[in-house]
Amino acid sequence: TIAIWSCSQKIIKPNAGFVSKNQLDSRVDSVLKLMTLEEKIGQLNQYNGFWEITGPTPKEGQAAKKYSDLKNGLVGSMLNVKGVKDVKALQKIAVEETRLGIPLLFGFDVIHGYKTISPIPLAEAASWDLEEIKKSAAIAAEEAAAVGLNWTFAPMVDISRDARWGRVMEGAGEDPYLGSQIAIARVQGFQGDDLKARNTILACAKHFAAYGFAESGRDYNTVDIGESTLQNIVFPPFKAAVGAGVRTFMNSFNELNGIPATGNSYLQRKILKSDWGFDGFVVSDWGSINEMIPHGFAKDSKHAAEIAINAGSDMDMESNAYVEHLATLVKEEKVKEDLIDDAARRILKVKFELGLFDNPYLYCDENYEKETVGKAAFHEGVLEMAKKSIVLLKNEKELLPLKKSGQKIVVIGALANDKTSPLGSWRIAADDNSAVSLLEGLENYKDNQLTYAKGADVTEGKTQFIFETKINTTDKSGFPEAITAAKNADVVIMSLGEHGLQSGEGRSRADIGLPGVQQELLEAVYKVNPNIVLVLNNGRPLAIPWADAHIPAIVEAWQLGTQSGNAIAQVLYGDYNPSGKLPMTFPRNVGQVPIYYNYKNTGRPVMTEPDSVFWSHYIDEKNTPLYPFGYGLSYAKFEYSGLSLSQKTFSGEGQIEVTVTVKNTGKYPGKEVVQLYIRDLIASVTRPVKELKGFEMIELQPGESKKVNFVINKKTIEFYTAQSKWEAEPGDFKVFIGGSSVQTLENDFQYLNN
Ligand code: BGC
Repeated sequence: TIAIWSCSQKIIKPNAGFVSKNQLDSRVDSVLKLMTLEEKIGQLNQYNGFWEITGPTPKEGQAAKKYSDLKNGLVGSMLNVKGVKDVKALQKIAVEETRLGIPLLFGFDVIHGYKTISPIPLAEAASWDLEEIKKSAAIAAEEAAAVGLNWTFAPMVDISRDARWGRVMEGAGEDPYLGSQIAIARVQGFQGDDLKARNTILACAKHFAAYGFAESGRDYNTVDIGESTLQNIVFPPFKAAVGAGVRTFMNSFNELNGIPATGNSYLQRKILKSDWGFDGFVVSDWGSINEMIPHGFAKDSKHAAEIAINAGSDMDMESNAYVEHLATLVKEEKVKEDLIDDAARRILKVKFELGLFDNPYLYCDENYEKETVGKAAFHEGVLEMAKKSIVLLKNEKELLPLKKSGQKIVVIGALANDKTSPLGSWRIAADDNSAVSLLEGLENYKDNQLTYAKGADVTEGKTQFIFETKINTTDKSGFPEAITAAKNADVVIMSLGEHGLQSGEGRSRADIGLPGVQQELLEAVYKVNPNIVLVLNNGRPLAIPWADAHIPAIVEAWQLGTQSGNAIAQVLYGDYNPSGKLPMTFPRNVGQVPIYYNYKNTGRPVMTEPDSVFWSHYIDEKNTPLYPFGYGLSYAKFEYSGLSLSQKTFSGEGQIEVTVTVKNTGKYPGKEVVQLYIRDLIASVTRPVKELKGFEMIELQPGESKKVNFVINKKTIEFYTAQSKWEAEPGDFKVFIGGSSVQTLENDFQYLNN
């Protein structure tokens, strides 16, 4: 047996510094030439590793089959293997026992941290702080790499307008511009500047495509959307990820306009690989190749394999369809061997880029693992990220920031004392009870008197398994204690929202209010003491109109990860002045969903007060959201003035400079995200009433003002036109600047020609 990674050293010296694209391709080809058809197909095969790897060799069943396939060089990658010990054991088999010694890729859902958990991605998006988001991804990468992993299935860049869909927690919200910027930051954070470095891992843009547009917000459901939405809303973050150099893509479970994404060659071959020139590889989603059978698109697994490879899915995650059927399909001439070569080449290339052929054990150092996992710097990093992710939704009666002494504070709600829920969904490797609870965070402020009463749980039972279904509790037996405690408090902090596992994959909700008896608890406590600060912990926008109408202070604290309680306490006490802005619209009522800021006008008059039935509206609810996209308060107060344009028109490659003045008229220093939106008034395809096109975060001392500049050019106004191209159409536009998508100053400009 001669291991290729040493074999390849004969062709190009390992770590010889810069390897040109041609050299890399020739190294890949040198390996490919030695491979049998079965071995090439093996590279396209990814197995789940939830079985005892370092235990006795499995003798029967699925594990035995996987094990023998591994030894026979029929596995290219494994997922869900935890820890250096296991990774090393498996890598050793691949490198030392298979005929060619090709190293494995180890993939894992490092969605918001490995063991040290950062806020859920939707929360991070609320920071609008691209540098911090990049750092957060870099922390996750460093910790994951230390446990032997070299590939994360993140970022999820699916745009979604539907808060019922549980996976909104995993994305960056509803907007393609913000989503694109965040996609870039995350890819850069995970992959760094040097994929060969031992603190960087491969990123994966997922789920290609349109998974976030599942009908009625029900996970995995049918997607049927037109070209305009696909191009203008769904694709941009994926394209941005390609631009940022993402090395892998994952396709998705859903069908798109009748064609499952996994078998969709328009998506994978035309758009991704041809139009965007993506030269990494595409992994299927878990079992999504075989899911084409129940979709009614493939008659059996063999047919599914044929469809998927032809459509450009390079790696099969857990369907076993490729490893079982591709060789036969090639022999029967239903699949061209060239396609297998192309897929294998893409995967091998990425393995070379990671440096695995030069050092397959790069990520396998147990001492380094021990020193690195959970290190203090990671905790500091996720705390910073968590503080920046919090959004202040309402603050009346000057309840916040809390006074630091002499206060009787009563904390109510099971989530306040929960050390697991703040970790949210997708935290496979993090331990239960490893988050700082809100109560623990508040205990750091010792000069106030703190009392806790649970009031009610959110859900029933203890969590055993992260994919278990949570049932809302109906138990109100804790109400009296909470109500009594609340009576004498100066301030009541109520921590309400979703259990950490009520959002995420497979957790769609038809009712997006406060689950269980929490709404009743809130109203009961309010009756005896209205001085309530409501701290929301949730993985999606919630519809909480009653709370907005009655509760004086509301803080959106999402699921903030390991340092959750510390972050929230620092914000409540004003040691961090909240600066987050919503990346997704909060509805008043679930019936408004999908609701989003960049909607289009109808042919009916735009009204706010109904004076006839014939306008586009509900007879029992307003059209407007509860909290709009881009919205978020601060303890400071910001005033916008003097929106001015350097000129009113531009053409060709010209530009307009837009300036606005922002002043802090409040008494606290604070940060503000200044947002620029445009509207294209008349176009070949109808355009949204507003589209985010730029933002900048500024920091202002009390009384201080700053001028903020933006540039409008051709790129700003481009969209997917009736000509089926991205281009700028001449015409009239509006520009808006403000601290949210609704409170804005506005002005007009024109684009004259190309
Ligand atoms: C999810 C993916 C994930 C994969 C592997 C699937 O169910 O849709 O996002 O990466 O499982 O865990």
